[in-house]
Amino acid sequence: MRIAIMSDVHANLAALEAVLRDAEQRKALDAVWCLGDMVGYGPQPRECLARLREVVSVCVVGNHDLAAIGHLSTEDFNPDAAAAARWTARQLAEADREYIYSLPQVVREGDFTLVHGTLRWPVWEYLYSYEAAQAHLRRQQTPFSLVGHTHVPTLVVEDGRYPYGCELFYLEDGATVTLDPSRRLVINPGGVGQPRDGDPRASYAVYDVEQGTITIHRVEYEIEATQRLMMEAGLPRWLIQRLSLGR
Ligand code: ZN
Repeated sequence: MRIAIMSDVHANLAALEAVLRDAEQRKALDAVWCLGDMVGYGPQPRECLARLREVVSVCVVGNHDLAAIGHLSTEDFNPDAAAAARWTARQLAEADREYIYSLPQVVREGDFTLVHGTLRWPVWEYLYSYEAAQAHLRRQQTPFSLVGHTHVPTLVVEDGRYPYGCELFYLEDGATVTLDPSRRLVINPGGVGQPRDGDPRASYAVYDVEQGTITIHRVEYEIEATQRLMMEAGLPRWLIQRLSLGR
């Protein structure tokens, strides 16, 4: 059984389709798990929601999803993100809003807990410090958890031999994590629609259930196609440029 794990699609349909194609080409997928922020920033929120709803079996909500339906204030967003959130809100139909509203912030699925940010602040907190990792792990009741939000593929390993009780590792293209239930892990598959680790390729992960492994994959997609649509929509310039930079 193979499950694709994706996060932060951010209304980038070209990236989403490239990731789904890549995953299916490797071997047929049995399920897709989504870690939130399906919309926000990108030019095709409705199309991405429709495509994700076809394939996703488990999904948690992200801060940009909630902002797009008016259930989270954009006061703490930077001006570009807030402008994109207002634009996104105008695109969504009632059925899109109802779907987003129906999504949980935290889901347990077998040995995994899924959350967009951290288990301390599910839609807000970025898991990229020791302090956040510790707070998250203290609340993690399953051996493994999956997070998004930072758009950076990351592994957190809990182990008392590390000075902070855990260690954070960057996961590069092709990196495979072996799931060993004797030590708790947190995995971030990176961002599909707006990578931020300096590599502009879309990032996602495949969970091979029989092997007990999760592997990171990077996929090239037609960045210019998404940028063109963003320009036509009048979305902020920096949001368009950053896709080429992976920042
Ligand atoms: Zn995001």
